[in-house]
Amino acid sequence: MSPSKIVILGAGIYGVTAALSLRQRGHAVTLLDPGPLPHPLATSTDLSKAIRMDYGTDEFYMALMELALERWQAWNLHFDETLYHEDGMLFLAGTSMAPGGFEYESYTRLQKRGHPVERLTSDRVRAQFPALAAHRYPDGYLNPRAGWAESSRVVIRLLEEAQRLGVELRAGKTFARLLDSGSRLVGVETTDGVRYPADYVIVAAGAWTPTLFPHLSAWMWAVGQPVFHFQVPDPARFRPPNFCVWGADIANTGWYGFPALPDGTLKIANHGPGRRLHPEEPRTVALDEEEKFRAFLATTFPEIAHAPVLRTRLCLYCDTWDGNFYIDHDPTHEGLIICSGGSGHGFKFAPILGEITADVLERKPNPWAHKFAWRSRAALATEDARFTGE
Ligand SMILES: Cc1cc2nc3c(=O)[nH]c(=O)nc-3n(C[C@H](O)[C@H](O)[C@H](O)COP(=O)(O)OP(=O)(O)OC[C@H]3O[C@@H](n4cnc5c(N)ncnc54)[C@H](O)[C@@H]3O)c2cc1C
Repeated sequence: MSPSKIVILGAGIYGVTAALSLRQRGHAVTLLDPGPLPHPLATSTDLSKAIRMDYGTDEFYMALMELALERWQAWNLHFDETLYHEDGMLFLAGTSMAPGGFEYESYTRLQKRGHPVERLTSDRVRAQFPALAAHRYPDGYLNPRAGWAESSRVVIRLLEEAQRLGVELRAGKTFARLLDSGSRLVGVETTDGVRYPADYVIVAAGAWTPTLFPHLSAWMWAVGQPVFHFQVPDPARFRPPNFCVWGADIANTGWYGFPALPDGTLKIANHGPGRRLHPEEPRTVALDEEEKFRAFLATTFPEIAHAPVLRTRLCLYCDTWDGNFYIDHDPTHEGLIICSGGSGHGFKFAPILGEITADVLERKPNPWAHKFAWRSRAALATEDARFTGE
């Protein structure tokens, strides 16, 4: 495809990875974001995101993550910085793992695919992870090929790389409207009246996407999920080798978390139904959400049940109706590409998202793109849907 002018709306992980891949293919790319960058309210902007290939019965995402994990390791070398920490991930089951359960289905499929997953009893959990109330979780497994990424750092390093390669990064620019000539899109205008000509416009505005483009709101919407950052008194008990990323009966409780950072900050969050809200509404964690968090701590990490909360955050998923992303040409508008709908599990695919988006824009075959193709709610079977992880 001959070089095109491409404007990308949103410099979160979807936007910046698309910008990089398209620039590497010779396109002229402009990346617009209300900024400052990384945007403090962007979903990608956070201390950490879980990186794991455990996906229950869904071998598509498992296989995609096998590839992404190799690329996370390559990024660590390329950026000469440990952006992805392969500390392992512990999946605790509330009862014995059994067919149909998230832990059982992930464990058996990972085993089948040759991954070194290790089944754990309560005794083994108690011995290796002393901060956990192991008796609550009689079964589970450890996946050593998993961990977490320093998500804000990742976005920062990718933005630097994008600029180095010639992406025009425009922070402080808020998309206002598309510019058309006849049936064809010719650019965008920002709220300050500046016009950016484009052959293609990629919408990578995360939770803002359905607000900016209301015709998408039947398929995707913003959902708030509570996140707690707090200080632990004895950080060594919450760091590898005594601790790692974990999910505690996650399909039923939603709770998952990360090892303590060097300053002793521990992050715990909930992947539950969340609550729908407008991305510009105040992002306040509700009292009952904090009470549920405290109740969970008391059952699973009793020694920190009363530890002081440093910061709470209501982080926004851009949930799609079936939990799969949308990365495709918008059939209602020639030249418009949607690259959004992370549905609470998109960050881990960062090293491969840009390539998928670039192939889709260039209409090149891509072995993964069909899952993210334009679809209406009626067109897809729903067994492919929901629980996709944290
Ligand atoms: C609490 C929480 C925990 C998560 N945990 C994990 C995890 O452990 N592992 C994992 O893989 N995934 C996780 N996710 C999901 C993952 O973080 C997201 O899928 C991903 O970060 C979404 O990236 P994005 O680029 O689509 O959106 P964002 O990062 O939100 O980026 C969108 C950008 O669009 C910009 N924008 C907004 N309005 C405009 C406008 N008018 N014009 C131009 N730009 C605009 C914003 O400023 C923002 O920078 C989690 C999500 C949440 C909320």
